[in-house]
Amino acid sequence: MNTFIEQIAIYGFTFLLITVILLIYIIKQKRESKEVEDKIEIAKEEGWHEPVTLYPVVDPNRCLKSGACITACPEKDILGIRNGKATTINASLCIGHGACVKACPVGAISLYIGTEKRGVDIPELSDNFETNVPGIFISGELGGMGLIKNAVTQGAEAVEYISQIIQKDSPAEYDLIVVGAGPAGIGATLNAKKNGLKVLTLEQDTLGGTIATFPRSKIVMTSPMQLPLYGKVKLVETTKPELMHLWETALSKNKLSIQENIKVESIHPENGYFKITASTGETYTTQKVLLAVGRRGTPRKLGIPGEMTEKVAYRLLEPEDIHGKKIVIVGGGDSAVESALLLAPQNQVTLCYRGEAFSRIKQKNAHKIADAMAKGSVNVLFNTNLVSIDPHSVSYKIGESDEIHQLENDRVYIFAGGELPVQFLKKMGISMSTKHGEVILKH
Ligand SMILES: Cc1cc2nc3c(=O)[nH]c(=O)nc-3n(C[C@H](O)[C@H](O)[C@H](O)COP(=O)(O)OP(=O)(O)OC[C@H]3O[C@@H](n4cnc5c(N)ncnc54)[C@H](O)[C@@H]3O)c2cc1C
Ligand code: SF4
Repeated sequence: MNTFIEQIAIYGFTFLLITVILLIYIIKQKRESKEVEDKIEIAKEEGWHEPVTLYPVVDPNRCLKSGACITACPEKDILGIRNGKATTINASLCIGHGACVKACPVGAISLYIGTEKRGVDIPELSDNFETNVPGIFISGELGGMGLIKNAVTQGAEAVEYISQIIQKDSPAEYDLIVVGAGPAGIGATLNAKKNGLKVLTLEQDTLGGTIATFPRSKIVMTSPMQLPLYGKVKLVETTKPELMHLWETALSKNKLSIQENIKVESIHPENGYFKITASTGETYTTQKVLLAVGRRGTPRKLGIPGEMTEKVAYRLLEPEDIHGKKIVIVGGGDSAVESALLLAPQNQVTLCYRGEAFSRIKQKNAHKIADAMAKGSVNVLFNTNLVSIDPHSVSYKIGESDEIHQLENDRVYIFAGGELPVQFLKKMGISMSTKHGEVILKH
């Protein structure tokens, strides 16, 4: 009898223990799922949920909830676990490391480009990176695949091919003009030198490309890269200054310099070579062109007097270092509003927008700017157009009135949209295809 009771007690206790463990597991899973669901809701509200270019897609039938993808992803909160399966949260922040794809033990993740709703235009390229316009090549992120290492490799590979087809007797000034000095342009420039080409690199901004213009402290490189004339670079985790130092060292060691602040406006075929016209009005002739212009585009200028002065910028870097300034921000989109909000606590900020109200900004930004306006921390001038930028002030008009107003000012940030690289390519007759959800990397 005692043995029977003991057995019942043991079975009962085991059953209770399993039930408690199961219950804890279910509650924990529910709580995790709820947290992820909340994050997805916020991501949707803030516009981060919908992918922009590359993004991971999880096959729920294969996913085992190992969580390896989340640990492997160097970015934060792109993936999370909901109801026992991995799912995307802030898909638009994916930069295409592919670490999640490689980490998944059951091959449940693939990397896609474009969605049904938001297609991604990609230039049609041959295996040698040549476009349908013979002599014009494309490498780097513009070609569809992101990441520093990929861009450097592609830039170098494109030049490897170009150097084989260069004609020695061309009347063009240059063998190759590289447009853009991000990682792809740097890889290409170094390899052009290695192959003895007469190369010129034109950059609308400054050396470094996208990474140089983002306020970002940590840069992750999931595999080593081969930099021509420099060697193997093993920087698993690095910083923006360290990376910039690397580019500068590699270029200066090889006596290469980048022509900065020169935007390429047009490229026309002429007598068997290309004539390139820059924003400065200068023209150059070259046998071949490599477009390494990335996907970020070119900021739109206002075309007003004083815009070329040093106090004017088209991007906001290191806002935490800007204190006690009188700042004018031009624009009515998310970038303008977010910059105004970032600068407001330690500066005197005026936001000038030609529209009557903010109509195309994220809900979160709309709330925050309304709050800042009510508190007076950001002064917003609607219906306003800047007419000139002077050393210590800006001049503007309101609505249809011709009256000129002046505002004391130290810095101007312009966020007036820009020309997308797609428009730039179409002007040259380069064929594109739109990707609406194609796999570009799988297990
Ligand atoms: C927020 C963020 C974080 C990232 N973090 C990482 C990371 O940690 N690790 C990683 O590997 N990758 C990261 N990436 C991706 C990486 O930055 C890009 O894949 C890489 O910079 C692409 O290089 P690219 O040379 O093709 O283009 P870009 O770096 O975009 O360079 C293009 C250059 O061309 C210039 N240009 C454009 N048009 C013209 C013109 N008409 N005339 C002259 N010049 C022109 C631009 O000014 C720019 O300098 C990140 C990207 C973002 C947005
Ligand atoms: S591809 Fe890279 S950034 Fe995107 S989710 Fe996977 S690991 Fe993260």
